[in-house]
Amino acid sequence: MGDPPPYTTVNGDEEKDSHSADPIPIRTKIIDLTHSLISSHIPACSGHPSYTAHRSMSLSKGEFANVHTLLIGTHTGTHVDAPYHFFEDGITVDELDLNLLTAAPAVVVDLRNKVAHERITWEGDLRRYEERMKEGVVVLLCTGWSKNWCKPNYSDHPFLDPGAAEKIMERGVKAIGIDAMSPDEVTEEGGDCGKVHRTVLGNSGIIIENLNDLGRILESGIEGEGLRVSVLPLRLDKCDGSPVRAVAWAV
Ligand SMILES: [Zn+2]
Repeated sequence: MGDPPPYTTVNGDEEKDSHSADPIPIRTKIIDLTHSLISSHIPACSGHPSYTAHRSMSLSKGEFANVHTLLIGTHTGTHVDAPYHFFEDGITVDELDLNLLTAAPAVVVDLRNKVAHERITWEGDLRRYEERMKEGVVVLLCTGWSKNWCKPNYSDHPFLDPGAAEKIMERGVKAIGIDAMSPDEVTEEGGDCGKVHRTVLGNSGIIIENLNDLGRILESGIEGEGLRVSVLPLRLDKCDGSPVRAVAWAV
């Protein structure tokens, strides 16, 4: 196949692209890892606000423009957790190092064989990816659970063993993502569901939750050294998390 030509296509016409040397060629296939936010249809942890969007201005009513008002939580949909989520003195989402979240190399751990409430362990699941886990790399846990988004069993996802989370962090990794509600186990009985959160966020790390379609990275064959991801939060002053648009591509 070779490299794509240094052109951009506008309405079928090809023209010279002066940015052809950029690391993201204009024709790169972007995989969207984000859930769509649909008003009143977003799973939320207990105590978190439910998401709604309603029209404040409408062209159809003769008003100047279409404008919506959102009710949204900092942990709505696909989002990041900043250390301040669990630590009063932790950095807030507007202070996160964007180098960790912009065009970052990533490793996708294939965990699609895991069942409900199954533990993801270092020895059994993660050690074989150890060499690629290093500073600046985003570790993405692909459980396949995003297919259950909005279903009653969405919170029954596999979960990361806290000791395994510690091992990942020891490798220098600062960002761990999962295609489920939380890297911690969520149980009806409650209990301590924050061990992985405290391990990651307590080491100045970032957690990415409710990722979508991580399996598409594996199926498209771009998993490997050239994989890059961007997961960019809103610049919310002094907040604990933020919805993101998460994308992956290969360089
Ligand atoms: Zn969160």
